[in-house]
Amino acid sequence: MTDTKIVLPESEIPRHWYNLAADLPFPLPPVLHPGTGQPIGPADLAPLFPMSLILQEVSTDRWIEIPEEVRDIYRLWRPSPLYRAHRWEKALDTPAKIYYKYEGVSPAGSHKPNTAVPQAYYNKQAGTRRLSTETGAGQWGSALAFACSLFDIELKVYMVKVSYQQKPYRRALMETWGAKVVPSPSPDTNAGRAILAATPDSPGSLGIAISEAVEDAATREDTKYSLGSVLNHVMLHQTIIGQETKRQMEIAGYYPDVIIGCVGGGSNFAGFAFPFVGDKVTQGNQTRIIAVEPLAAPSLTKGLYAYDFGDTAGMTPLVKMHTLGHSFIPAPIHAGGLRYHGMAPMVSALYDHDLIEAIAVPQTAVFNAAVRFARTEGILPAPESAHAIRGAEIEALRCKESGESKVIVFNLSGHGHFDLGAYDAYFAGKLQDYEYPEEEVRRAQADLPKV
Ligand SMILES: *Cc1c(COP(=O)(O)O)cnc(C)c1O
Repeated sequence: MTDTKIVLPESEIPRHWYNLAADLPFPLPPVLHPGTGQPIGPADLAPLFPMSLILQEVSTDRWIEIPEEVRDIYRLWRPSPLYRAHRWEKALDTPAKIYYKYEGVSPAGSHKPNTAVPQAYYNKQAGTRRLSTETGAGQWGSALAFACSLFDIELKVYMVKVSYQQKPYRRALMETWGAKVVPSPSPDTNAGRAILAATPDSPGSLGIAISEAVEDAATREDTKYSLGSVLNHVMLHQTIIGQETKRQMEIAGYYPDVIIGCVGGGSNFAGFAFPFVGDKVTQGNQTRIIAVEPLAAPSLTKGLYAYDFGDTAGMTPLVKMHTLGHSFIPAPIHAGGLRYHGMAPMVSALYDHDLIEAIAVPQTAVFNAAVRFARTEGILPAPESAHAIRGAEIEALRCKESGESKVIVFNLSGHGHFDLGAYDAYFAGKLQDYEYPEEEVRRAQADLPKV
């Protein structure tokens, strides 16, 4: 088992981010102004983001240089390891070769610092003193809190209330890195106060928390907004994952037959898969690229491909994406994360053009796969990442049936050390499978903005 772990030297941390927009064989639909419905330009986004990030958002340059100061911070945990899952393969009794890229080695325990660090860096360059953001389970909030602490930027995090109550340790982690955290909906914004007036016991949602964080930034001179997924510049920053993986697979001596990632807003999947999508588009590879989402929030497989708001209050620009509707509130019984109503526009467009596939999986099968994985590979996966594990398991078992020894590579986006409550619920038999109802999707359709 000589190839159990493939590690690259620091000198092989990528020097550029890869921008898939340069290689797409179709144009991306324009982003529209929430008020006028007209395409927006860079100036429209200036209240929320520094211009350097806005220019990355709309760039069609293939390679964008990573600032040396950012690479220096990446050295703390990058290049991240790629593992061959020898023991899990054996347990699954599959002829498939399974590899996984592990992003749980970052200080915050997930892929999210890959974009939090450059976002904090560009904000610092632009003179931003304070950032606002939202967080669901707390992964993004902690990644940005870590990055802001390095650049001495103040951070306010609007944390989805149900998670704020259920995950006190993620909050403590954010506070350790110096962030101020409030449960959302909060009394601190108009958006939060309106929701509290209508639904005092609202559990909150990512859409609501985004409304609050955007309002905070839009109404304060010293504050910009930061988002941990969905936007093009976030996908861009994450492409270091896929670039490193490609190099590591060269060392392993295989090109992947199947690439798998979990999807919430789409960023770890994009970062992992886009360099391979680029190969597929430019060289005509037949690689299958599969996004795995929860059956409880199935934006790709059941959502509509339509213009929608990124938030609940309707303050963000309109983007064309796969969406369950911006009023989506996730079912409280769903423990597996990945609860956002929409999907990154680039990931949505790839799905629409059949360049990637998507499947939706129920949560008990996800936790079952996670436990089997932990018992053979050792790593305790985040519930989000466990969707990718379940996806890899399905493909590996398919290989067992057919006798094919395909090379399956998946992204293990983070560890689950803060998610043991969800594991506990699973072991106690408290997790039920929940399929998001078709009627709800149709109902949400009526709420979509008319453009
Ligand atoms: C946030 C998170 C996700 C989901 O977000 P994406 O933008 O879809 O990647 C997945 N895995 C982990 C570990 C996360 O923290």
